[in-house]
Amino acid sequence: MSSRLPFLARVIAIDGPAGTGKSTTAREVARRLGWRYVDSGAFYRVAALLALRLALDLADEADRARLRQALERAAIEQEIVGGTPRIRLGGEDVSVEIRTPAVTSIVSRVADDPALREIVNAGLRVQVGEGTAVIDGRDIGTVVFPDAFLKVFLDASLEERARRRVAEAEPARAADPVALASYAQSLAERDRRDRERSVAPLRAAEDALHIDTSGLDFDSQVARVVRAAQDRIGRT
Ligand code: C5P
Repeated sequence: MSSRLPFLARVIAIDGPAGTGKSTTAREVARRLGWRYVDSGAFYRVAALLALRLALDLADEADRARLRQALERAAIEQEIVGGTPRIRLGGEDVSVEIRTPAVTSIVSRVADDPALREIVNAGLRVQVGEGTAVIDGRDIGTVVFPDAFLKVFLDASLEERARRRVAEAEPARAADPVALASYAQSLAERDRRDRERSVAPLRAAEDALHIDTSGLDFDSQVARVVRAAQDRIGRT
């Protein structure tokens, strides 16, 4: 299916705020199209993990420079094993550690460094190489691959996103209003940082297909993107 696509048209960009189902959608779209899946947020999460492990102070420019150096040297690999994405850092599986609250709470601060973003973007371009990929993130369609073959912007209400996050992370508390409020607060804070930063802020590309996933089930969400991709493939 991908062999007929021109070289520059090899990426499907799926951007949007946290909790909209970007990564699960991107992964399933990639599986159905036979394209590679790349999680750009995982690179920022690995950077945040490095900052924690090296006990770096993000308010200190010298420490920021140390972090960029460590990230540049880091061997980061992504692959899908048995349907689950695995992230390795220097051969060590850090897939679980990069999703801990400690990492999540600092990742958007780590991601507001323009020079660090350049390192991540170069890494993303290497991952894609000359192949075809579905990539999820915040600035994939606007900055990293502005020539993406298809750009999708997923969104959902804050309440719905918090509900999904609690159900995923702490299913026993899925109906607990305190848990819902606390997840909503941390999602809102991360969104604010991602939307307000001066470099590559979270926003939809002008030519993105907008999908509000609040009332959509997973299959319909995936089907909308696959259909849009197939329409475009049919036109190339
Ligand atoms: O997608 P995920 O929630 O794992 O991303 C974690 C964080 O990484 C985001 O909140 C954002 O601060 C940063 N990020 C980014 N640009 C991307 C992907 C993620 O700034 N393309």
